[in-house]
Amino acid sequence: MKMETDIQYLPGVGPKRAELLRGELGIATVGDLLHCYPFRYIDRSSLQKIADLHPDQSYIQFRATVRKVRLLAKNGAELPDGPVKYNLASRLSILVGDETGEIEVVFFKGIKWMHTRLVPGASFIFFGKPSLFNGRINMVHPEVDPPDSFSAGTLSGVYNSTERLRNGGLTGKAMLKLMNAALEMVLPTLQETLPEDVLREKALCPLSFALRQIHFPKDQDALARATYRLKFEELFYLQLSLVKQKYIRSRSAVGIPMPHVGTAFHACYHALPYSLTGAQQRVIKEIREDLVSGHQMNRLLQGDVGSGKTMVAVLSALIAIGNGYQACIMAPTEVLAQQHFANISRYLEPTGVKAVLLTGTSGVAARREIHAGLEDGSIGIAIGTHALIEDNVRFKALGLAIIDEQHRFGVEQRSRLWGKGAGGVPPHILVMTATPIPRTLAMTLYGDLDVSVIDEMPPGRKPVQTICVGENKRHAMHNFIREEIAKGRQAFIVYPMIFENEKLDYKNLELGYEEIVKAFPLPDYKVAIVHGQQTPQEKDFNMSAFAAGRAQILVSTTVIEVGVDVPNASVMVIESAERFGLSQLHQLRGRVGRGADKSYCILMRGKKVSKESQRRLELMCATENGFEIAEEDMKLRGPGDLEGTQQSGLPITLNIASLAKDGLILSDARTYAEYILEADPTLTKPGHEILAAELRKDKYNLKDFSQIS
Ligand code: ADP
Ligand code: MG
Repeated sequence: MKMETDIQYLPGVGPKRAELLRGELGIATVGDLLHCYPFRYIDRSSLQKIADLHPDQSYIQFRATVRKVRLLAKNGAELPDGPVKYNLASRLSILVGDETGEIEVVFFKGIKWMHTRLVPGASFIFFGKPSLFNGRINMVHPEVDPPDSFSAGTLSGVYNSTERLRNGGLTGKAMLKLMNAALEMVLPTLQETLPEDVLREKALCPLSFALRQIHFPKDQDALARATYRLKFEELFYLQLSLVKQKYIRSRSAVGIPMPHVGTAFHACYHALPYSLTGAQQRVIKEIREDLVSGHQMNRLLQGDVGSGKTMVAVLSALIAIGNGYQACIMAPTEVLAQQHFANISRYLEPTGVKAVLLTGTSGVAARREIHAGLEDGSIGIAIGTHALIEDNVRFKALGLAIIDEQHRFGVEQRSRLWGKGAGGVPPHILVMTATPIPRTLAMTLYGDLDVSVIDEMPPGRKPVQTICVGENKRHAMHNFIREEIAKGRQAFIVYPMIFENEKLDYKNLELGYEEIVKAFPLPDYKVAIVHGQQTPQEKDFNMSAFAAGRAQILVSTTVIEVGVDVPNASVMVIESAERFGLSQLHQLRGRVGRGADKSYCILMRGKKVSKESQRRLELMCATENGFEIAEEDMKLRGPGDLEGTQQSGLPITLNIASLAKDGLILSDARTYAEYILEADPTLTKPGHEILAAELRKDKYNLKDFSQIS
């Protein structure tokens, strides 16, 4: 039997259970079953002393002797001696003890059976979870085994289960039995999945050992070795596939050489009203090195909101211009494209470079003119939305494409730009994102890109004071907004968006809007509103009213999250803040603190907030460091839910490793993958057949971006 064998042919499974396993756990083959690892283990290898028990322990066992037995009725009264009336008993309380102390063991079910078994003076091993009841430690419904049974048991795995699985007979015990059967059938002919030199150099245990020990560990040490090997393997292949892609591309993709800096760059640079931060300078240097290299640049630029990415984009674009090429800057929304256009045009004034704005709402005539200007090269920089990648947009010599706010664009769109390069050579690509992503995650999400980080804020950015308040402070919040408006400031009020339920979503916003309009009536106040059900024109109309100061308050769903710059806004109110991701809250907060003397972020907390949510909100109040917040967010919610990463998603699903917890293994796997590919980029050297074969498997068959255009 092989790993690929259909699960139904495993003894003990059959068509019915196979269906269940497939439906509930996605298990289709014997290999899938063996790669379904326990999510925790119960340690039955050692005995505890009663004095050492505490309620934070998970499942443990101890040996003790029954000292006192009481049958209790519903009202707590002890049932009298004599003939036992089990139907009156609602609880069996047993006091057991060892040489260190005593503990109460309680049963609500199976009372009769336990009552006849647990007679005073008899000894047993009790296995269960200590809990705290009325200030004392007890144990409810432990497993009760003969006193000498413990040496047989060691660590035993607990698998994910569902009611349907249990009803179908696939209990924890049954799963263990299947695992054992699968190991018996598969291990004798199992193919190792890592080359010998990798196993040796990384001191990893063989796959057969790892699989047996992950399901049936003989001790903690063996389990740790098995776990490490499986995590390493998973992360190693993930990185190997990513790094290989990067290699293929950097070797095959000729890039447009851009040896000059050019006069436009200098003209802009010297006219800047401020000097670049150290981080901006470093990043521009990194970009410049890519541009002169003759290889195509594929670089991710990460920088917190307000860190000054636009300037880097402009200067990079001007290098392209200085070498006789064009550049384009693509933003995810109309509003953002407009803002970029307005800002960038100012920077370009001293350069004489012509920039245009091209979006979905550009008129037919304007569009025709822009298309012509891009084709004849009279336009140097095109700023816009998706309209830039439409088929009828042709550049005379596109040398650099900059994509702002990467996560709003699919990978496919990034690759569409490849086809628009000068003379069939793909343009250099610079992707900018303001979503701080933990380093380990970036290595994976953007494993095929080089990464630059702006980790320094321009001077003069004002800290945003963040507070978290409940419903009872709503009036105070309104008053505070009035005070700020009286100072000539503006306020954002943001409502959460529930993707699954647009109607409810809209209702929230609508009610909120009504409340705000009542609290801030015309003619003194004007309130603009932006939400997902408006047409782009309506959105734009409202956004512009706010941006231009014609409205003092903007009520919206999260559409303003990205990039919008209204320096005069000093208050950001976030309703039901506990329903946002931390990184998303951080993005929203970044909308203020850009101009006003002092800015505020008010997190309105809902009525029922879990402890965890409360902690998250407190973290928001405590720090403005986006990376710290992103790390924390990832720890709390796992990388899959990280804001801004859903669309790009992880290239593969991790089965055992965690990007949040296994950063060290991940770095190690990455370095090792690079080391292997350095020596053998095609993975054709003897001993590396296994590597090439593994990468050909479906799950590693990541899209090769260079092939899509
Ligand atoms: P990002 O796009 O990274 O969120 P921006 O590029 O919009 O940030 O820059 C935010 C603000 O900081 C802008 O108003 C910009 O003019 C200003 N800025 C950028 N770089 C500097 C700098 N080196 N010194 C001072 N201000 C800067
Ligand atoms: Mg920006």
